[in-house]
Amino acid sequence: INHLAAALAAGAENRPETTFAIREDGSRLTHGELFGGAEAIASGLLRMGLQPDDRVTVQVEKSLDALQLYLGTVLAGGVFQPLNTAYTGAELAYFIEDAAPFLVVCDPNAEERTKDIAASTPARPRVETLAADGTGSLWDHAVSIDAFEPVARAADDLAAILYTSGTTGRSKGAMLTHGNLASNAVALKETWHYSESDVLIHALPIFHTHGLFVATNVTLVSGASMLFHTRFDAKAIMDDMARATVLMGVPTFYTRLLEQPGLAVAAKAMRLFISGSAPLLAETHKAWTDVTGHAILERYGMSETNMNSSNPYSGARRPGSVGLPLPGVDIRVADPETGRALPPGEIGSIEIRGPNVFKGYWNMPEKTAAEHRSDGYFITGDLGVFSEDGYLSIVGRAKDLIISGGYNVYPKEVETVLDQIDGVRESAVFSVPHPDLGEAVIAALVMKQNAALDDAKVETICREELARFKHPKRLLTLDALPRNTMGKVEKNKLQSQYAELFK
Ligand code: ATP
Ligand code: MG
Repeated sequence: INHLAAALAAGAENRPETTFAIREDGSRLTHGELFGGAEAIASGLLRMGLQPDDRVTVQVEKSLDALQLYLGTVLAGGVFQPLNTAYTGAELAYFIEDAAPFLVVCDPNAEERTKDIAASTPARPRVETLAADGTGSLWDHAVSIDAFEPVARAADDLAAILYTSGTTGRSKGAMLTHGNLASNAVALKETWHYSESDVLIHALPIFHTHGLFVATNVTLVSGASMLFHTRFDAKAIMDDMARATVLMGVPTFYTRLLEQPGLAVAAKAMRLFISGSAPLLAETHKAWTDVTGHAILERYGMSETNMNSSNPYSGARRPGSVGLPLPGVDIRVADPETGRALPPGEIGSIEIRGPNVFKGYWNMPEKTAAEHRSDGYFITGDLGVFSEDGYLSIVGRAKDLIISGGYNVYPKEVETVLDQIDGVRESAVFSVPHPDLGEAVIAALVMKQNAALDDAKVETICREELARFKHPKRLLTLDALPRNTMGKVEKNKLQSQYAELFK
Protein backbone atom coordinates (compact mmCIF):
# COMPACT_ATOMS: atom_id res chain seq x y z
CA ILE A 1 0.00 0.00 0.00
CA ASN A 2 1.51 3.33 -1.07
CA HIS A 3 -0.89 5.68 0.65
CA LEU A 4 -0.05 6.27 4.31
CA ALA A 5 -3.67 6.75 5.34
CA ALA A 6 -4.66 3.51 3.60
CA ALA A 7 -1.84 1.63 5.34
CA LEU A 8 -2.95 3.03 8.71
CA ALA A 9 -6.64 2.33 8.06
CA ALA A 10 -5.89 -1.27 7.11
CA GLY A 11 -5.08 -2.14 10.74
CA ALA A 12 -8.71 -2.26 11.86
CA GLU A 13 -10.31 -2.44 8.43
CA ASN A 14 -12.86 -5.11 9.25
CA ARG A 15 -13.47 -4.01 12.83
CA PRO A 16 -14.58 -0.36 12.63
CA GLU A 17 -16.58 -0.68 15.84
CA THR A 18 -13.55 -1.58 17.99
CA THR A 19 -12.00 1.01 20.29
CA PHE A 20 -9.23 3.21 18.96
CA ALA A 21 -8.86 5.40 22.04
CA ILE A 22 -10.24 6.03 25.50
CA ARG A 23 -9.98 9.60 26.75
CA GLU A 24 -9.20 10.60 30.34
CA ASP A 25 -12.91 11.21 30.99
CA GLY A 26 -13.64 7.60 29.98
CA SER A 27 -15.28 8.43 26.63
CA ARG A 28 -14.30 6.32 23.62
CA LEU A 29 -13.55 6.80 19.97
CA THR A 30 -13.75 3.74 17.70
CA HIS A 31 -11.50 3.13 14.70
CA GLY A 32 -14.54 3.74 12.46
CA GLU A 33 -15.29 7.06 14.16
CA LEU A 34 -11.66 8.10 13.96
CA PHE A 35 -11.52 7.61 10.20
CA GLY A 36 -15.09 8.83 9.67
CA GLY A 37 -14.12 12.14 11.25
CA ALA A 38 -10.82 12.25 9.39
CA GLU A 39 -12.62 11.74 6.08
CA ALA A 40 -15.10 14.49 6.93
CA ILE A 41 -12.18 16.84 7.62
CA ALA A 42 -10.51 15.72 4.36
CA SER A 43 -13.69 16.49 2.40
CA GLY A 44 -13.84 19.89 4.08
CA LEU A 45 -10.22 20.62 3.16
CA LEU A 46 -10.86 19.65 -0.46
CA ARG A 47 -13.94 21.83 -0.58
CA MET A 48 -11.84 24.73 0.76
CA GLY A 49 -9.55 24.20 -2.23
CA LEU A 50 -6.64 22.25 -0.79
CA GLN A 51 -4.40 20.90 -3.57
CA PRO A 52 -2.02 17.94 -3.35
CA ASP A 53 1.22 18.92 -1.58
CA ASP A 54 -0.38 21.94 0.13
CA ARG A 55 0.79 22.32 3.73
CA VAL A 56 -1.56 22.37 6.69
CA THR A 57 0.23 23.98 9.63
CA VAL A 58 -1.14 22.91 12.98
CA GLN A 59 -0.44 24.34 16.43
CA VAL A 60 -3.11 22.91 18.72
CA GLU A 61 -3.43 21.20 22.09
CA LYS A 62 -3.21 17.44 22.21
CA SER A 63 -6.55 15.82 21.35
CA LEU A 64 -8.03 12.99 19.32
CA ASP A 65 -9.50 15.66 17.04
CA ALA A 66 -5.93 16.76 16.30
CA LEU A 67 -5.12 13.18 15.25
CA GLN A 68 -8.19 13.26 12.99
CA LEU A 69 -6.81 16.46 11.47
CA TYR A 70 -3.51 14.66 10.83
CA LEU A 71 -5.25 11.77 9.09
CA GLY A 72 -7.67 14.08 7.27
CA THR A 73 -4.82 16.15 5.85
CA VAL A 74 -3.07 13.01 4.60
CA LEU A 75 -6.32 11.61 3.14
CA ALA A 76 -6.83 14.87 1.24
CA GLY A 77 -3.33 14.67 -0.26
CA GLY A 78 -2.00 17.51 1.90
CA VAL A 79 1.16 17.75 3.97
CA PHE A 80 0.69 17.78 7.74
CA GLN A 81 2.97 20.19 9.56
CA PRO A 82 2.58 20.02 13.34
CA LEU A 83 4.20 22.62 15.58
CA ASN A 84 5.25 22.54 19.21
CA THR A 85 2.52 24.16 21.31
CA ALA A 86 5.19 26.09 23.21
CA TYR A 87 6.25 28.13 20.17
CA THR A 88 5.70 31.86 20.65
CA GLY A 89 4.30 34.30 18.10
CA ALA A 90 7.75 35.12 16.72
CA GLU A 91 8.56 31.45 16.24
CA LEU A 92 5.14 30.77 14.72
CA ALA A 93 5.73 33.58 12.23
CA TYR A 94 8.99 31.93 11.16
CA PHE A 95 7.33 28.56 10.60
CA ILE A 96 4.35 29.97 8.69
CA GLU A 97 6.66 32.04 6.53
CA ASP A 98 8.88 28.98 5.98
CA ALA A 99 6.08 26.54 5.13
CA ALA A 100 3.83 28.91 3.13
CA PRO A 101 0.84 26.75 4.05
CA PHE A 102 -2.63 26.67 2.55
CA LEU A 103 -4.23 26.52 5.99
CA VAL A 104 -3.18 27.15 9.60
CA VAL A 105 -5.14 25.52 12.41
CA CYS A 106 -4.59 26.99 15.88
CA ASP A 107 -6.15 27.01 19.33
CA PRO A 108 -9.08 29.47 19.63
CA ASN A 109 -7.04 31.37 22.25
CA ALA A 110 -4.37 32.08 19.65
CA GLU A 111 -6.74 32.96 16.82
CA GLU A 112 -6.06 36.68 16.74
CA ARG A 113 -2.28 36.36 16.85
CA THR A 114 -2.29 33.62 14.22
CA LYS A 115 -4.55 35.61 11.89
CA ASP A 116 -2.26 38.64 12.19
CA ILE A 117 0.77 36.52 11.32
CA ALA A 118 -1.04 34.74 8.49
CA ALA A 119 -2.13 38.03 6.94
CA SER A 120 1.42 39.37 7.00
CA THR A 121 3.06 36.45 5.16
CA PRO A 122 3.06 36.21 1.33
CA ALA A 123 1.11 32.91 1.32
CA ARG A 124 -1.74 34.56 3.30
CA PRO A 125 -3.06 31.19 4.53
CA ARG A 126 -6.56 30.74 5.78
CA VAL A 127 -6.88 30.23 9.59
CA GLU A 128 -9.25 27.87 11.38
CA THR A 129 -9.40 26.90 15.05
CA LEU A 130 -9.48 23.69 17.07
CA ALA A 131 -9.59 23.58 20.87
CA ALA A 132 -8.57 20.72 23.13
CA ASP A 133 -12.25 19.84 23.63
CA GLY A 134 -12.89 19.71 19.88
CA THR A 135 -14.71 23.06 19.65
CA GLY A 136 -13.57 25.70 17.16
CA SER A 137 -14.24 26.47 13.52
CA LEU A 138 -12.47 23.46 11.95
CA TRP A 139 -15.36 21.05 12.41
CA ASP A 140 -17.81 23.60 10.93
CA HIS A 141 -16.16 22.93 7.59
CA ALA A 142 -16.16 19.15 7.88
CA VAL A 143 -18.42 17.38 5.40
CA SER A 144 -19.66 13.86 6.16
CA ILE A 145 -19.88 11.80 3.01
CA ASP A 146 -20.48 8.09 2.59
CA ALA A 147 -17.68 6.79 0.41
CA PHE A 148 -14.61 8.96 0.64
CA GLU A 149 -11.79 8.16 -1.75
CA PRO A 150 -8.34 9.24 -0.52
CA VAL A 151 -6.59 11.59 -2.92
CA ALA A 152 -4.08 9.40 -4.79
CA ARG A 153 -0.48 9.75 -3.66
CA ALA A 154 2.68 7.87 -4.54
CA ALA A 155 5.08 6.44 -1.95
CA ASP A 156 7.53 9.24 -2.72
CA ASP A 157 5.00 12.08 -2.20
CA LEU A 158 5.09 14.11 1.00
CA ALA A 159 2.78 13.31 3.91
CA ALA A 160 4.32 15.54 6.57
CA ILE A 161 6.93 18.11 7.39
CA LEU A 162 8.19 17.58 10.89
CA TYR A 163 10.40 20.16 12.54
CA THR A 164 13.37 18.84 14.50
CA SER A 165 13.51 19.60 18.22
CA GLY A 166 16.03 22.42 17.81
CA THR A 167 18.42 20.90 20.34
CA THR A 168 21.50 21.91 18.36
CA GLY A 169 20.24 25.01 16.55
CA ARG A 170 17.24 26.32 14.67
CA SER A 171 14.65 23.59 13.95
CA LYS A 172 14.76 22.19 10.43
CA GLY A 173 11.72 20.89 8.54
CA ALA A 174 12.16 17.21 7.69
CA MET A 175 10.13 16.26 4.60
CA LEU A 176 8.62 12.83 5.21
CA THR A 177 6.94 10.80 2.49
CA HIS A 178 4.04 8.37 2.60
CA GLY A 179 6.57 5.58 2.05
CA ASN A 180 8.83 6.77 4.88
CA LEU A 181 6.04 6.72 7.45
CA ALA A 182 4.19 3.63 6.29
CA SER A 183 7.33 1.48 6.06
CA ASN A 184 8.52 2.49 9.52
CA ALA A 185 5.16 1.77 11.14
CA VAL A 186 5.22 -1.74 9.69
CA ALA A 187 8.86 -2.32 10.74
CA LEU A 188 8.07 -1.30 14.32
CA LYS A 189 4.91 -3.41 14.45
CA GLU A 190 6.99 -6.47 13.55
CA THR A 191 9.92 -5.64 15.81
CA TRP A 192 7.78 -4.98 18.86
CA HIS A 193 5.32 -7.86 18.20
CA TYR A 194 2.44 -5.43 18.11
CA SER A 195 -1.08 -6.79 17.65
CA GLU A 196 -4.70 -5.68 17.77
CA SER A 197 -4.89 -6.71 21.41
CA ASP A 198 -2.32 -4.11 22.46
CA VAL A 199 -3.39 -1.14 24.53
CA LEU A 200 -0.88 1.71 24.56
CA ILE A 201 -0.60 4.33 27.28
CA HIS A 202 -0.18 7.46 25.14
CA ALA A 203 1.15 10.37 27.21
CA LEU A 204 3.58 11.95 24.71
CA PRO A 205 3.05 15.20 22.79
CA ILE A 206 1.72 14.70 19.25
CA PHE A 207 3.80 17.37 17.50
CA HIS A 208 6.90 15.18 17.67
CA THR A 209 7.87 11.96 15.88
CA HIS A 210 7.64 9.89 19.08
CA GLY A 211 4.01 10.61 19.98
CA LEU A 212 2.70 11.29 16.48
CA PHE A 213 4.35 8.73 14.25
CA VAL A 214 5.82 6.02 16.47
CA ALA A 215 2.97 5.81 18.99
CA THR A 216 -0.01 6.64 16.78
CA ASN A 217 1.02 4.96 13.53
CA VAL A 218 2.05 1.72 15.19
CA THR A 219 -1.27 1.60 17.03
CA LEU A 220 -3.15 2.18 13.77
CA VAL A 221 -1.31 -0.30 11.51
CA SER A 222 -1.84 -2.90 14.22
CA GLY A 223 -5.52 -2.08 14.70
CA ALA A 224 -4.70 -1.67 18.40
CA SER A 225 -5.97 0.92 20.88
CA MET A 226 -4.69 3.54 23.27
CA LEU A 227 -5.43 5.18 26.60
CA PHE A 228 -5.12 8.81 25.63
CA HIS A 229 -3.53 11.13 28.20
CA THR A 230 -3.23 14.81 27.34
CA ARG A 231 -0.13 15.17 29.53
CA PHE A 232 2.24 13.09 31.62
CA ASP A 233 1.02 12.47 35.17
CA ALA A 234 3.02 9.68 36.83
CA LYS A 235 0.21 8.55 39.14
CA ALA A 236 -2.41 8.49 36.37
CA ILE A 237 -0.06 6.57 34.07
CA MET A 238 0.70 4.04 36.77
CA ASP A 239 -2.99 3.56 37.54
CA ASP A 240 -3.66 2.83 33.86
CA MET A 241 -1.13 0.00 33.67
CA ALA A 242 -3.71 -2.50 34.91
CA ARG A 243 -5.69 -2.13 31.66
CA ALA A 244 -2.80 -1.47 29.27
CA THR A 245 -0.07 -3.53 27.61
CA VAL A 246 2.54 -1.00 26.35
CA LEU A 247 4.04 2.29 27.51
CA MET A 248 6.12 4.50 25.23
CA GLY A 249 8.04 7.19 27.04
CA VAL A 250 10.99 9.51 27.16
CA PRO A 251 13.53 8.68 29.90
CA THR A 252 12.03 11.19 32.35
CA PHE A 253 8.77 9.20 32.31
CA TYR A 254 10.69 6.27 33.73
CA THR A 255 12.64 8.18 36.36
CA ARG A 256 9.43 9.82 37.59
CA LEU A 257 7.50 6.56 37.59
CA LEU A 258 10.26 5.00 39.69
CA GLU A 259 9.41 7.50 42.44
CA GLN A 260 5.82 6.19 42.60
CA PRO A 261 4.95 3.80 45.42
CA GLY A 262 3.14 0.74 44.10
CA LEU A 263 4.96 0.63 40.76
CA ALA A 264 6.09 -2.98 41.14
CA VAL A 265 2.53 -4.27 41.43
CA ALA A 266 1.10 -1.91 38.82
CA ALA A 267 3.67 -2.81 36.16
CA LYS A 268 3.31 -6.56 36.52
CA ALA A 269 0.78 -7.31 33.81
CA MET A 270 2.27 -4.94 31.23
CA ARG A 271 3.82 -6.45 28.13
CA LEU A 272 6.37 -3.85 27.07
CA PHE A 273 8.06 -0.62 28.16
CA ILE A 274 9.74 1.41 25.40
CA SER A 275 12.04 4.41 25.79
CA GLY A 276 13.50 6.86 23.31
CA SER A 277 14.09 10.47 22.21
CA ALA A 278 16.95 10.94 24.66
CA PRO A 279 19.50 8.64 26.31
CA LEU A 280 18.15 6.35 29.02
CA LEU A 281 20.64 6.13 31.86
CA ALA A 282 21.93 2.60 32.47
CA GLU A 283 21.06 3.21 36.11
CA THR A 284 17.41 3.87 35.25
CA HIS A 285 17.33 0.73 33.10
CA LYS A 286 18.69 -1.33 35.98
CA ALA A 287 16.44 0.23 38.62
CA TRP A 288 13.40 -0.44 36.42
CA THR A 289 14.31 -4.10 36.06
CA ASP A 290 14.92 -4.39 39.81
CA VAL A 291 11.54 -2.88 40.67
CA THR A 292 9.26 -4.21 37.93
CA GLY A 293 11.02 -7.26 36.48
CA HIS A 294 10.73 -5.71 32.99
CA ALA A 295 13.76 -4.68 30.92
CA ILE A 296 13.00 -1.35 29.22
CA LEU A 297 13.36 -1.61 25.45
CA GLU A 298 15.35 1.37 24.20
CA ARG A 299 15.19 2.47 20.58
CA TYR A 300 16.77 5.23 18.52
CA GLY A 301 15.33 7.55 15.95
CA MET A 302 14.93 11.13 14.85
CA SER A 303 12.59 13.47 13.00
CA GLU A 304 14.45 12.91 9.73
CA THR A 305 14.39 9.11 9.71
CA ASN A 306 11.65 7.90 12.03
CA MET A 307 13.11 4.95 13.93
CA ASN A 308 16.45 3.39 13.02
CA SER A 309 17.26 0.79 15.63
CA SER A 310 15.70 -1.01 18.55
CA ASN A 311 16.73 -3.43 21.22
CA PRO A 312 15.28 -6.84 20.44
CA TYR A 313 11.89 -8.00 21.64
CA SER A 314 13.24 -11.44 22.38
CA GLY A 315 16.89 -11.36 23.32
CA ALA A 316 19.06 -9.09 25.41
CA ARG A 317 17.87 -5.51 25.90
CA ARG A 318 21.16 -3.89 26.81
CA PRO A 319 21.36 -0.87 29.08
CA GLY A 320 23.22 1.95 27.34
CA SER A 321 22.61 0.50 23.87
CA VAL A 322 19.97 1.41 21.29
CA GLY A 323 20.02 -2.10 19.88
CA LEU A 324 20.03 -3.51 16.38
CA PRO A 325 19.06 -1.97 13.01
CA LEU A 326 15.32 -2.25 12.22
CA PRO A 327 14.37 -4.55 9.32
CA GLY A 328 15.18 -2.81 6.02
CA VAL A 329 17.29 -0.09 7.65
CA ASP A 330 21.05 0.10 7.01
CA ILE A 331 23.13 1.69 9.74
CA ARG A 332 26.85 2.27 9.51
CA VAL A 333 29.31 3.85 11.90
CA ALA A 334 31.64 5.71 9.58
CA ASP A 335 34.76 7.79 9.46
CA PRO A 336 33.33 11.33 9.65
CA GLU A 337 35.70 12.56 6.93
CA THR A 338 35.24 9.87 4.30
CA GLY A 339 32.06 7.97 5.16
CA ARG A 340 34.01 4.70 5.13
CA ALA A 341 32.49 2.11 7.50
CA LEU A 342 34.54 1.54 10.65
CA PRO A 343 34.97 -1.81 12.43
CA PRO A 344 33.12 -2.62 15.67
CA GLY A 345 34.60 -0.88 18.70
CA GLU A 346 35.53 2.29 16.84
CA ILE A 347 33.56 5.50 17.40
CA GLY A 348 32.32 7.31 14.31
CA SER A 349 29.49 9.10 12.54
CA ILE A 350 26.15 7.26 12.59
CA GLU A 351 24.78 7.14 9.04
CA ILE A 352 21.47 5.71 7.83
CA ARG A 353 20.03 4.44 4.57
CA GLY A 354 16.62 2.89 4.02
CA PRO A 355 12.95 3.43 3.19
CA ASN A 356 12.60 5.41 6.43
CA VAL A 357 15.03 8.18 5.47
CA PHE A 358 13.43 11.55 4.68
CA LYS A 359 13.40 13.33 1.33
CA GLY A 360 15.37 16.33 2.54
CA TYR A 361 15.08 19.49 4.60
CA TRP A 362 12.26 21.78 3.54
CA ASN A 363 13.66 24.87 1.76
CA MET A 364 17.26 23.87 2.58
CA PRO A 365 18.72 22.10 -0.47
CA GLU A 366 22.33 22.90 0.51
CA LYS A 367 21.89 21.49 3.99
CA THR A 368 20.18 18.41 2.55
CA ALA A 369 23.09 17.85 0.17
CA ALA A 370 25.70 18.47 2.87
CA GLU A 371 24.17 15.82 5.15
CA HIS A 372 24.00 13.03 2.58
CA ARG A 373 26.87 10.93 1.21
CA SER A 374 27.11 10.18 -2.50
CA ASP A 375 26.00 6.59 -1.83
CA GLY A 376 22.74 7.79 -0.30
CA TYR A 377 23.51 7.51 3.39
CA PHE A 378 22.16 10.29 5.64
CA ILE A 379 24.64 11.71 8.15
CA THR A 380 22.65 11.86 11.37
CA GLY A 381 24.93 14.13 13.40
CA ASP A 382 25.12 11.48 16.13
CA LEU A 383 28.29 9.61 17.04
CA GLY A 384 28.18 5.95 17.92
CA VAL A 385 29.91 2.61 18.10
CA PHE A 386 28.90 -0.95 17.22
CA SER A 387 29.68 -3.89 19.50
CA GLU A 388 31.13 -7.07 18.02
CA ASP A 389 27.65 -8.60 18.01
CA GLY A 390 25.97 -5.69 16.24
CA TYR A 391 24.47 -3.57 19.03
CA LEU A 392 24.68 0.17 18.46
CA SER A 393 25.52 2.60 21.26
CA ILE A 394 25.25 6.38 20.93
CA VAL A 395 28.14 8.31 22.43
CA GLY A 396 26.71 11.77 21.82
CA ARG A 397 26.21 14.32 19.11
CA ALA A 398 28.99 15.30 16.74
CA LYS A 399 28.29 18.93 17.66
CA ASP A 400 28.91 18.18 21.34
CA LEU A 401 32.28 16.56 20.70
CA ILE A 402 34.84 18.48 22.75
CA ILE A 403 38.31 19.11 21.41
CA SER A 404 40.44 20.05 24.39
CA GLY A 405 44.13 20.71 23.83
CA GLY A 406 43.84 18.85 20.53
CA TYR A 407 42.31 15.71 22.06
CA ASN A 408 38.77 14.39 21.40
CA VAL A 409 36.58 14.11 24.48
CA TYR A 410 33.21 12.39 24.13
CA PRO A 411 30.90 13.89 26.78
CA LYS A 412 28.98 10.65 27.23
CA GLU A 413 32.11 8.81 28.37
CA VAL A 414 32.78 11.37 31.08
CA GLU A 415 29.09 11.52 32.07
CA THR A 416 29.00 7.74 32.49
CA VAL A 417 31.89 7.93 34.97
CA LEU A 418 30.36 10.84 36.88
CA ASP A 419 26.92 9.21 37.05
CA GLN A 420 28.40 6.27 38.96
CA ILE A 421 29.50 8.47 41.84
CA ASP A 422 27.41 8.11 44.99
CA GLY A 423 25.01 10.98 45.40
CA VAL A 424 25.09 12.04 41.73
CA ARG A 425 21.67 11.89 40.11
CA GLU A 426 22.77 12.93 36.63
CA SER A 427 25.37 14.95 34.81
CA ALA A 428 25.96 16.94 31.65
CA VAL A 429 29.44 17.41 30.26
CA PHE A 430 30.01 20.28 27.82
CA SER A 431 32.70 22.69 26.74
CA VAL A 432 33.44 26.38 27.10
CA PRO A 433 36.14 28.42 25.38
CA HIS A 434 39.52 28.23 27.13
CA PRO A 435 42.59 30.38 26.37
CA ASP A 436 45.13 27.50 26.35
CA LEU A 437 43.09 24.43 25.54
CA GLY A 438 40.75 25.90 22.96
CA GLU A 439 37.87 24.16 24.72
CA ALA A 440 37.69 23.16 28.37
CA VAL A 441 35.67 20.21 29.68
CA ILE A 442 33.01 21.32 32.19
CA ALA A 443 30.72 19.04 34.19
CA ALA A 444 27.31 20.10 35.49
CA LEU A 445 26.09 17.75 38.21
CA VAL A 446 22.67 17.31 39.71
CA MET A 447 22.89 15.74 43.16
CA LYS A 448 20.37 13.41 44.76
CA GLN A 449 18.32 14.77 47.63
CA ASN A 450 20.48 15.56 50.67
CA ALA A 451 23.68 14.52 48.88
CA ALA A 452 26.60 16.91 48.72
CA LEU A 453 29.27 17.03 46.07
CA ASP A 454 32.65 15.78 47.21
CA ASP A 455 35.20 17.30 44.81
CA ALA A 456 38.00 15.05 46.06
CA LYS A 457 35.97 11.93 45.34
CA VAL A 458 35.24 13.11 41.81
CA GLU A 459 38.93 13.70 41.28
CA THR A 460 39.88 10.24 42.53
CA ILE A 461 37.35 8.50 40.30
CA CYS A 462 38.31 10.55 37.26
CA ARG A 463 41.97 9.75 37.87
CA GLU A 464 41.18 6.04 38.01
CA GLU A 465 38.91 5.90 34.98
CA LEU A 466 39.73 8.70 32.57
CA ALA A 467 42.81 10.05 30.83
CA ARG A 468 43.90 13.40 32.24
CA PHE A 469 42.70 15.45 29.24
CA LYS A 470 39.13 14.18 29.79
CA HIS A 471 38.89 15.41 33.39
CA PRO A 472 36.45 18.26 33.96
CA LYS A 473 38.27 21.55 34.51
CA ARG A 474 35.36 22.80 36.56
CA LEU A 475 32.49 21.11 38.44
CA LEU A 476 29.16 22.90 38.70
CA THR A 477 26.23 21.77 40.81
CA LEU A 478 22.80 22.59 39.43
CA ASP A 479 19.29 21.96 40.77
CA ALA A 480 18.27 20.55 37.38
CA LEU A 481 19.64 20.29 33.86
CA PRO A 482 18.00 22.53 31.26
CA ARG A 483 15.72 20.33 29.14
CA ASN A 484 13.36 20.87 26.21
CA THR A 485 9.85 19.41 25.98
CA MET A 486 11.17 16.06 24.75
CA GLY A 487 13.43 15.69 27.79
CA LYS A 488 16.60 16.46 25.83
CA VAL A 489 19.38 18.24 27.69
CA GLU A 490 20.00 21.64 26.12
CA LYS A 491 23.78 21.79 26.16
CA ASN A 492 23.84 24.92 24.03
CA LYS A 493 22.15 26.73 26.94
CA LEU A 494 24.81 25.53 29.35
CA GLN A 495 27.52 26.52 26.89
CA SER A 496 26.28 30.07 26.52
CA GLN A 497 25.52 30.47 30.21
CA TYR A 498 29.06 29.50 31.22
CA ALA A 499 30.91 30.84 28.17
CA GLU A 500 32.83 33.37 30.27
CA LEU A 501 34.19 30.91 32.87
CA PHE A 502 37.77 31.22 31.64
CA LYS A 503 37.69 34.75 30.30
P1 ATP B 1 17.93 19.31 16.23
O1 ATP B 1 18.17 18.35 15.11
O2 ATP B 1 17.03 20.43 15.82
O3 ATP B 1 19.18 19.79 16.88
P2 ATP B 1 17.05 17.01 17.75
O4 ATP B 1 18.10 16.27 16.99
O5 ATP B 1 17.03 16.87 19.24
O6 ATP B 1 17.10 18.56 17.39
P3 ATP B 1 14.88 15.21 17.12
O7 ATP B 1 14.80 14.81 15.70
O8 ATP B 1 13.63 15.37 17.89
O9 ATP B 1 15.62 16.61 17.20
O10 ATP B 1 15.76 14.19 17.95
C1 ATP B 1 16.61 13.23 17.37
C2 ATP B 1 17.84 13.05 18.24
O11 ATP B 1 17.49 12.56 19.54
C3 ATP B 1 18.80 12.01 17.70
O12 ATP B 1 19.62 12.52 16.65
C4 ATP B 1 19.57 11.63 18.95
O13 ATP B 1 20.62 12.56 19.20
C5 ATP B 1 18.53 11.75 20.05
N1 ATP B 1 17.99 10.43 20.43
C6 ATP B 1 16.86 9.82 20.03
N2 ATP B 1 16.71 8.63 20.62
C7 ATP B 1 17.78 8.46 21.42
C8 ATP B 1 18.23 7.44 22.30
N3 ATP B 1 17.53 6.34 22.51
N4 ATP B 1 19.41 7.64 22.95
C9 ATP B 1 20.14 8.75 22.76
N5 ATP B 1 19.77 9.75 21.95
C10 ATP B 1 18.61 9.61 21.30
MG1 MG C 1 18.75 16.41 15.04
